[in-house]
Amino acid sequence: MKSNTRIIHHPYKASSDFEAPQIGVHKASTVIFPNVQNMREREWMDKSSYTYGLHGTPTTFTLEERLCEIEGGKHCVLVPSGLAAIAQVNFAFLKTDDEILLPDHVYGPSKVLAAGELKNFGITCQYYDALNPDDLSQRISSKTKLVWLEAPGSVTLEFPSLMELIKRCKQKNILTALDNTWGAGIAFNAFDLTPDAEKNWGVDITVHALTKYPSGGGDVLMGSVMTHRDDLAQTLKLSHMRMGQMVGANDAEMVLRSLSTMRMRYLAQDSSARAVSQWLSTRAEIAQVLHPALPQSPGHAHWKALTCHPSSSPTGWAAGLLSVMIDARFTSQQVDAFCDGLNIFKLGYSWGGPMSLVVPYRLQTIRSQEQTHLQKGHLVRFAMGLEDADDLINDLQQSIEKNLKL
Ligand SMILES: *Cc1c(COP(=O)(O)O)cnc(C)c1O
Repeated sequence: MKSNTRIIHHPYKASSDFEAPQIGVHKASTVIFPNVQNMREREWMDKSSYTYGLHGTPTTFTLEERLCEIEGGKHCVLVPSGLAAIAQVNFAFLKTDDEILLPDHVYGPSKVLAAGELKNFGITCQYYDALNPDDLSQRISSKTKLVWLEAPGSVTLEFPSLMELIKRCKQKNILTALDNTWGAGIAFNAFDLTPDAEKNWGVDITVHALTKYPSGGGDVLMGSVMTHRDDLAQTLKLSHMRMGQMVGANDAEMVLRSLSTMRMRYLAQDSSARAVSQWLSTRAEIAQVLHPALPQSPGHAHWKALTCHPSSSPTGWAAGLLSVMIDARFTSQQVDAFCDGLNIFKLGYSWGGPMSLVVPYRLQTIRSQEQTHLQKGHLVRFAMGLEDADDLINDLQQSIEKNLKL
C-alpha cells in the first residue's frame, strides 16, 4: 500500500480510557457504520446515535445539551449565526398566508428578513408596540401564527412585560418565540417566566446569538434554536435537517470552551455597564440613559419583576449594553466626533467580546412607530467589553469634554 492509503486507513479509534474536562473536536462529514443493518437502523433525531456529519457529532450534541442546561430548554439545534436562528424558526413554523407579529424594537435584521424572503413567500408581518400589550392583542387575528418577543428591545433597551405579552398570546393559542440573546439564559428563565407554576407562562421557542456571550471572544458566529416542547422539536429538527443548517465542530468547540466562563463574563460586563450608566446619568450632555437596571429607564419595573429575586439575585442581571440619548442641542457632527474621539470604545457592531464597542444610530431608520418613552436626541449604543470600568469612564469623559460643547 502506498503511504496515502496507509495514512487514511491508519487504525485510529478514540480511546475509551482517556478522560479530560475538555470536549474533543469531533469533525466528520461521514460517520462509519459497522454493517448495513446498523446503517439502516440508526436514528439521529433523538441523539441516540450518529449517522452523518450534518446531523451532528459528539461535539455539537454536547454543545446543544449544555445550552439546554443554561437556558432551561429540552431540545436545541445549532445554526451558523444568530440571524440564521431567527430565519430557521420562521422557515420551520410558517407557511404562505400566515402572519407574524414583530415588536417594533426587534433586532433590525429580523425586520429585513420579514420584508424580504417572508414577504416573497406570502407571509405577512405587522409590528406591535411591546410596551403596550393591548396593541399586541389588537393585532392578533386568525392569520397570526407566530409572535416574536425581545427583552429588552434592541438598541433602545426598553423592557416590556414579557409575562403579560406571553399571556396575551397563550390565551389565543399563538406560538411565541423570544430572542434570548440579551438574557442569555442567565438573567431569567424564558421557559418558565412565572413563579406560579400552574400558569406555566413560558415562551415556546428561544433563539440565541451564540456569537455574543456564549462565544465571548468576538471570533465565532453561531446561533441556536431551543424549545421545551417535544412536538415543536420534531418540526424544528426536520426543518433544520432539510435546510442543511449545521456548524463546524471547531467553532462548536470554541463555544464549549467559553461557556464555562460565560456567567462570570456576563457579571463583569453587567457590573461595568451599571458603573458607566450611573456615571453617564450625571452628565448634562446626556438627555437619557437607557439601561434596564436604572430606575428611570423605560420598563425598569418589568425588568425588576423578571430578574430580581431575593433567593437568586436580589440585584438582578442586566447584561453589558447601554444606550444614551445625547442632548438634541448637539449637532450630529458633534455626536459623530464624540464617537470618533473615543479610544477604548471602538466603532463596531455586535457585542459580548473582550473589547468595548460603540455605534451611533438614527432612531427614525430603526423604528416605524412613535417612541414616546424616549427623549429627543442622538441615540448611541455602548457594549461593554472586559476592560476596567474606570478606564471606560475616563475614555467617555475625555471625548465628551473634547467634542460635546454647547
Ligand atoms: C447579534 C444579534 C443577533 C444576530 O446574531 P449574529 O450571529 O450576528 O447573526 C440576533 N439577535 C440579537 C438580539 C442580537 O443582538
